[in-house]
Amino acid sequence: MPKGDFWNPEMELLDRGEIEALQMKRLREVLERCERSPFYREWFREAGFYPHKVCSLADLRSLPPMDKDTLRGGDPRRFLTVPLEDVVRLHSSSGTTGQATVVFHTARDIEAWTELVARCMYMTGVRRSDVFQNMMGYGLFTGGLGFHYAAERIGCLVIPAGSGNSRRQIQLMRDFGTTVIHVIPSYALYLLDVFRELGLDPKRDTALRIALIGAEPHTESLRLRLEESYGFKAYNSYGLSEMSGPGVAFECPFQEGMHVWEDSFILEVLDPDSLEPVPVGEEGELVFTSLHREGMPLLRYRTRDLAYVYPDTCRCGRSHRRISRIKGRTDDMFIVKGVNIFPMQVERVLLGILGVGSNYQIVLDTVGSRDEMRVLVEVSGDIWHGEVRELNRLRRRITEQLRREILVTPLVELVEPGTLPAGEGKAVRVVDKREHVREE
Ligand code: ADP
Ligand code: ZN
Repeated sequence: MPKGDFWNPEMELLDRGEIEALQMKRLREVLERCERSPFYREWFREAGFYPHKVCSLADLRSLPPMDKDTLRGGDPRRFLTVPLEDVVRLHSSSGTTGQATVVFHTARDIEAWTELVARCMYMTGVRRSDVFQNMMGYGLFTGGLGFHYAAERIGCLVIPAGSGNSRRQIQLMRDFGTTVIHVIPSYALYLLDVFRELGLDPKRDTALRIALIGAEPHTESLRLRLEESYGFKAYNSYGLSEMSGPGVAFECPFQEGMHVWEDSFILEVLDPDSLEPVPVGEEGELVFTSLHREGMPLLRYRTRDLAYVYPDTCRCGRSHRRISRIKGRTDDMFIVKGVNIFPMQVERVLLGILGVGSNYQIVLDTVGSRDEMRVLVEVSGDIWHGEVRELNRLRRRITEQLRREILVTPLVELVEPGTLPAGEGKAVRVVDKREHVREE
């Protein structure tokens, strides 16, 4: 039962030494369990890795990391460490970057996951008196059921709205006095336009106080814009299907990085090329080992997500380390004229400029033999219907500020609000039509 400000004080308040001792104990159990899976027996043998010889967390590093491709090759059931009849559910990733991967859960896995997500939600201030509207896709995507179970565990009134159907979302919020939402940040931004069309102001016309935002990279500027427009506090939520789903890392009320629950996951931050650990505070690829998964534990799983670890401990009293906002996936990065660019750099610039609306898209093309980068930017309604001179001024400003940030001068095109594709799921920020990229 939760005590005071902590859902699970016993785990949340462990000190560093205790966290590491617990990790070691759980790692031993996981490794032993893995030997029951056909995949791991082979994986260990090929790597010359002897699980019973692992005496420290550093010893785990002699095992090669796994990635999405490791999961994709062959029958996913070969990862199981339990008979298939003990599996009660499967989930699958959204398949943002290719074929989706399958993850199996036992009843105990679902229970542990529910507890973790409840811990996250409770940490941000969600209580049983809240009305929680889950605006994430249900079904195979983990953001639906993962949060649903946890919110029920806390005792909220849960509205399983699912994704999309914007007018109905707003209606539900107003009819049932929704106080907490779980939403993809780009969709929350888009929904502001729908509020406006309906002549509503979310600050005045809803009771929203907390938003849990995640599932895709987004900038601090986007968070601030949402907080300001809705009048809620927005907390960053990070997870991936391969580590059960949401609940891997989450912001506390201080909103300075996301605590990784290290009683449940071993976190490594590696240089994506050398696969060596990077110094604390330096950006690298997040690699996780699941410590509470019974059915299908994953060891040293490469996320392709880039972030860094905060060097100091958090003011909230939890010593679980914090990771920064995710800068993007290693495969989100694109190269134009020899310069490496992440979509989030573009977003940071755009959302800092007055007059920019709620959607943008980057289009890469080959013109002649050269790369061309176009940035399509929706502008706010009043700018669009205002003077041409103002539009031109805005376009020049965006071009100049982007050039300063990314060192390439893109072609900026201002477009009417509501004209760029706004999906219900994760936003597609980059459309790459370049010939040399397609040929790869
Ligand atoms: P897919 O890899 O198909 O998108 P998932 O649905 O499991 O599968 O999504 C997990 C991925 O979503 C993460 O690896 C990360 O790239 C992204 N993601 C999840 N939460 C966040 C967040 N808070 N910030 C940035 N990216 C996130
Ligand atoms: Zn904290």
